Amino acid sequence: MVERDCPPALSGALPSAGATRRRLISVAATLLVLPVLPRLAQAATILAVRTWPADEYTRVTLELDSELKAEQFTLENPHRLVVDIEGLTISAALNDLVSKVRPDDPYIQSLRVAQNRPNVVRLVFDLKQPVAPQVFTLKPVADYQYRLVLDLYPKIAQDPLIAILNKQSGPDVDDPLARILEDIQRNPVTRADPPEPPRVKGQQPAAPLPSTPKPPPATASRGKQRMLTIALDPGHGGEDPGAIGSSGLREKDVVLRIARRLKALIDSQPYMRAYLTRDDDYFVPLHVRVQKARRVRADLFISIHADAWIKPSANGSSVFALSQRGATSTQARWMADKENAADLIGGVNLGSHDRQVAKVLLDLSTTAQINDSLKVGSAFLDEIKKINRLHKNSVEQAGFAVLKAPDIPSVLVETAFISNPQEEALLRSSSHQDKLAQAMMTGIQRYFTANPPLARLGDVS
Ligand SMILES: [Zn+2]
Repeated sequence: MVERDCPPALSGALPSAGATRRRLISVAATLLVLPVLPRLAQAATILAVRTWPADEYTRVTLELDSELKAEQFTLENPHRLVVDIEGLTISAALNDLVSKVRPDDPYIQSLRVAQNRPNVVRLVFDLKQPVAPQVFTLKPVADYQYRLVLDLYPKIAQDPLIAILNKQSGPDVDDPLARILEDIQRNPVTRADPPEPPRVKGQQPAAPLPSTPKPPPATASRGKQRMLTIALDPGHGGEDPGAIGSSGLREKDVVLRIARRLKALIDSQPYMRAYLTRDDDYFVPLHVRVQKARRVRADLFISIHADAWIKPSANGSSVFALSQRGATSTQARWMADKENAADLIGGVNLGSHDRQVAKVLLDLSTTAQINDSLKVGSAFLDEIKKINRLHKNSVEQAGFAVLKAPDIPSVLVETAFISNPQEEALLRSSSHQDKLAQAMMTGIQRYFTANPPLARLGDVS
């Protein structure tokens, strides 16, 4: 630490005449603002506490009536995370947080809460594994007041490729991903690598690490059928419930159920496997969903939603693709704005480098990707119209952030309006969830039959 950067109280210097003068000025200033002081001194009130445990990371949220500062540090032997929150006193709500730690939480063993100093509450998390914490605050948005968010990420980041290991391709199936996975297993150090950076046509991918043997080119061999990977993206999750129907059905829950059903159908195909961008009730930022799909080299990205409209009479299914030049309708633009707000509601740490990654993705959308996405979308509409009314007969386009993978055909399916009581009832029924999954499965097969995957952009060696 540089001495001149230290405030006088920390530098150890004796009070000078200047310091005394400053103190007098400061006392005068205090007297001037005195009427406000009692309010400032009052501790913030905790409005709610929530925990969102998941394999990827565990989030702890404290919702408050004002913005508070927090500092954190980690300790070893045993592993602990300590968070000091300024402006808080012990309350029943804080004690409630202790009981919200679930026994199956992958990161938190237990939690202790104590008044560390008169105005500072200390949370001590006893950990099951070392974490890389992110602590940040969010301003009021939607139904939420100020949120203090503690995200506990694993110290060694999990690679989405590992999650896809459950379905191995057979000996006569060409699967470049399987070779990459074998390579990762041989060289575990590469597991902690960040997702590969966005790559556009004509641009060479970054060279592999010197210690990593170069994987064979990712093209399909002649005579072999290529293994196809479909990324399924259940919208919302965790802090972001998505739209909520009048009987209480939450979009985040129903889209996860539909996605899991579709995953089972895809995994039962000999040359296909599905990957879920989230398989639990936690929030995944929009650009992370895109990054995950690119990391598993998805051939197709399907974001699944069930949204709301101002009027409860609105009904029917819609399919959206990305647009580079404005939205195709007012409603499409409204939908895109609403879906893109998920990051604000779900809560993203904008102080991290992720913001830059999100911006890069934003600038890389391609015409080829959009053309392929429109074909996928048409195939979907043809199938979905057999089981539900269509809100519009053609694929609509708008600037959905989650559809911006430059090299993966990407569609967003609004399965129905959860704000319409009849459609909410349909969405709730498992038989209709099955029908939706089956319709999308047939749509996927139709698309790949008409557009063989070997011609996929970005798969050329
Ligand atoms: Zn949605």
